Amino acid sequence: MNKQSKTKIDERMLTAHFSLREMCASGTAIRLGIENVPDEAVIKRLQQLCEHVLEPLRQRFGVIRITSGYRCERLNRAVGGVKNSQHLRGEAADIHVSDIEVGRKMFRFIKENLEFDQLLFEHIRENGVCWLHVSYRNPSPFLPMKANRRQAIDNYVAPPKAEELKWEY
Ligand SMILES: [Zn+2]
Repeated sequence: MNKQSKTKIDERMLTAHFSLREMCASGTAIRLGIENVPDEAVIKRLQQLCEHVLEPLRQRFGVIRITSGYRCERLNRAVGGVKNSQHLRGEAADIHVSDIEVGRKMFRFIKENLEFDQLLFEHIRENGVCWLHVSYRNPSPFLPMKANRRQAIDNYVAPPKAEELKWEY
């Protein structure tokens, strides 16, 4: 990665309140020396996700913390993400849930008010750690089958390895 692309990641805003850096930040990537840098197509998708889901959510609930946005292949493997994860395409973000009631309210708000592809209230059975996973697909007139599915699962059990994700920031 050259200096220029690094600067671009650091300073670029995707929407009024979400930066590219925030959507690519990862403690695991830093720890393992993984360059988690998206291409322009991914950046466009991240922008759509921010615009259609994260900004309206922030407007309703105040500042929200993204614990994992874009993941390159290596990073996705390192954090135990599923093979075809929408994080790989810049279509998904994980949102920190500090309070389970607020998490439930966020879930309901997205489900009832926003356009989204998949919404999961994820938790790890062994320790009760939970977070919201939400994705958005940019609808394309050429790919109608790829439209947003509006699939919401309010009790999704994540594998124990996913606990690493809670440290993603
Ligand atoms: Zn996720």
